[in-house]
Amino acid sequence: MDEPRLEEDRSSKFSPSKLSVYQNCPRRYQYRYVDKISRRRKTPETVTGVAVHAAFEELYGLVTGGKVPSLAELQEIYEREFSAEWDGSVVEKDARFVQDDWRKVGRDCVQLYYEAHQPFSEDRTVAVEKRVGFPIMVDGHEYRIEGFVDRLALAPDGAFEIVDYKTAKSLPNQRHADEDWQLALYELAVRLEWPDTKEVRLKWHYVRHGKTLVSIRDDAARARLLADAAALISRIKHDHEFKTNRGTLCDWCEYRDLCPEFADEVRVAALPPAEREKDGGVKLVARYAEIEERRKRLKDELKAVEAEREKAEEDIADWAEAAGVAVVAGERAQASVSVKDEIHLPTKTGDAARHAELEAEARKTPLWAEVARLDGHALLDGLKARRWTGELLALAESFVARFGHRAHKRTVRLKRRADSEED
Ligand code: SF4
Repeated sequence: MDEPRLEEDRSSKFSPSKLSVYQNCPRRYQYRYVDKISRRRKTPETVTGVAVHAAFEELYGLVTGGKVPSLAELQEIYEREFSAEWDGSVVEKDARFVQDDWRKVGRDCVQLYYEAHQPFSEDRTVAVEKRVGFPIMVDGHEYRIEGFVDRLALAPDGAFEIVDYKTAKSLPNQRHADEDWQLALYELAVRLEWPDTKEVRLKWHYVRHGKTLVSIRDDAARARLLADAAALISRIKHDHEFKTNRGTLCDWCEYRDLCPEFADEVRVAALPPAEREKDGGVKLVARYAEIEERRKRLKDELKAVEAEREKAEEDIADWAEAAGVAVVAGERAQASVSVKDEIHLPTKTGDAARHAELEAEARKTPLWAEVARLDGHALLDGLKARRWTGELLALAESFVARFGHRAHKRTVRLKRRADSEED
């Protein structure tokens, strides 16, 4: 059972990727940065990315020194890095592609980039793999945001360019580039280091596609980014539970064996088939699944019976009306029919527009105080979603603190495993 843990982040430095880990899954953040469980895994993708980056780093080191290497020399550098990086620890997930396929992916990236940019004189390289950072105040404390820029360059028009190389298979769209905040955070650092900077261009070279995306941020976007980063750090610093966030990224998570969402799955998968059936948890889930199936069958049956019952009631009411009687006699029972007129008011689910109209009018009258009721769910939901600020938030918190009580609620939900056979 996943008991809440009283954990605390003690970091004083945050990189954009560290912040992203928290955004995607606080629990993964906890394992990596709070508990400091080192599980860096090499994958074919990371090996290829590291080797391509290393080749470009050396390329621009040479270019800055006045020497442009040939494509063959650059590919040799790439090959060397790839071979050094690919060791026994690489986790290959897709058996369709072997080491040489990945080697070729990177080699093609290097070639595509080389041919598009030689003789590499479109800008002047200021630094490669440059550490940049800036201080950020959060809740009265100073932290630092730091990271490494793949390449920092000065364009002929005097603008700084923060360059990032991406070896990813997918090519994101412009909106994605305009919303990215890794390079945008680096821009804040660059502007601090060179205060007379006018323009900064954020540039991503998607080297598998030979496509470059560029994004330029204005003052308002930079202010928003800083506020968002501070809010995120504040959330991390106040987090003591580091909740799991199960999603598509779990497939790449290196902590699945620790994570309460997957630990038992990992354990059961490691059991020999004969032991699996005897396992306590496996048996309990099988029993629960069987009960759920029975429940569903009964629910469907009940639904059908309810429909039949409704039809029978209508038939009896029709019969009574035609016969002019209030009670229809049977052999072993009798059915009484009562008729009354009811008024129905519009409901939120039935007729939302009319319901809203009625509520708006009622609110303006003294009758509202008589008919309005407290909606506890709305109060708790609003508090959870931080829907209010200032006085309203304080009021909501105080009501919940004074009138609420904490209950330990356990919920079990059955989810069919993706790899299980369909019925
Ligand atoms: S497996 Fe998923 S939910 Fe668990 S820590 Fe990793 S990313 Fe988070």
